[in-house]
Amino acid sequence: MNIRNVVIIGSGPAGYTAGLYAARANLSPLLVAGLNQGGQLTQSSCVENWPGAFDFPSGLDLMDNFKKHVEKFNVETVVENVSSVTKDGDVFSVNCSSGTYKTRSVIIATGSSARYLGIRGEDRFIGSGISACATCDGFFYRRKKVAVIGGGNTAVTDALYLSGLAAETHLIHRRDAFRCEKILTDKLMKLVEEGKIILHLDSIPVEFTGDEYLTGVKISNVKTGSDEILSVNGVFEAIGHVPNTTFLGDLVELDHGYIKTGENSSYVTATSVPGIFAAGDVADSRYQQAIVAAGRGCMAALDVERYLAV
Ligand SMILES: Cc1cc2nc3c(=O)[nH]c(=O)nc-3n(C[C@H](O)[C@H](O)[C@H](O)COP(=O)(O)OP(=O)(O)OC[C@H]3O[C@@H](n4cnc5c(N)ncnc54)[C@H](O)[C@@H]3O)c2cc1C
Repeated sequence: MNIRNVVIIGSGPAGYTAGLYAARANLSPLLVAGLNQGGQLTQSSCVENWPGAFDFPSGLDLMDNFKKHVEKFNVETVVENVSSVTKDGDVFSVNCSSGTYKTRSVIIATGSSARYLGIRGEDRFIGSGISACATCDGFFYRRKKVAVIGGGNTAVTDALYLSGLAAETHLIHRRDAFRCEKILTDKLMKLVEEGKIILHLDSIPVEFTGDEYLTGVKISNVKTGSDEILSVNGVFEAIGHVPNTTFLGDLVELDHGYIKTGENSSYVTATSVPGIFAAGDVADSRYQQAIVAAGRGCMAALDVERYLAV
């Protein structure tokens, strides 16, 4: 069986960028795009922070351009999910439903999936009223009313950020204390005192309301059992992300679910297994932005080029 130089798994900003760089390095990469071709950004109706794209394309259009760009370099692409990756000596098998691809190196760029609550009304408003990314979508809600759901660092950071943009910011948390860093709680309580953030503690969202647009979120107090509808235009769910690594089993080391990279290696994108590299949100619990993922995809391809040359 033909042994390839590199198989790239995932077709978000990280995977496509890795494909582009690997192709230009004459590595003839195979890109296994996954069933969600284009990745998470395809859910965004308008991307305002991709440098140079100041006509603010939709995420779908932007990712379609990534696809066309790799096609220009004849990157071989298959649209299917990888079910497992196994290692035999220095060769890896990337297993999909249509067959197995043997390769000397692998770049994992499978991203992460935002966790959603799964409550009534949510399906109708994801991407048009409900977002999992305040940095990405907060700007669309300037001078509007928003609510953030969650009680960790991300939720509190999102609430602090949105309070500077929105006309009214609510923070809904199921407990009576926050799990975030002390400095964030201090900043939060200051803004609460100033009336810039309204807290709803011991409360859980039970339903999203609205017709064409989201108009509110119904919350229920877990201690008193009383319900209330908050009238808001946007809701930011900050209840975590799940990195897409299940198909890897325990092949590579993880840290809180994210792939560990750059430890004990001169390659920044190297995982715990020589020959396997990782890029983008699957290895990034912190930044989770398209431009960072694309940058990491570039780095992974450059690391692979050097790894194969040694
Ligand atoms: C609603 C929304 C709006 C956003 N807006 C912005 C924004 O305006 N600006 C910004 O910078 N960022 C934005 N982001 C964040 C940005 O989309 C991510 O940071 C970025 O997409 C991460 O890129 P990635 O390549 O690491 O992974 P992803 O984009 O998540 O792509 C992962 C890829 O891996 C594939 N995959 C997964 N599992 C498998 C498998 N088993 N086998 C094969 N393939 C697999 C998927 O099909 C997908 O193609 C937004 C995110 C969301 C959800």
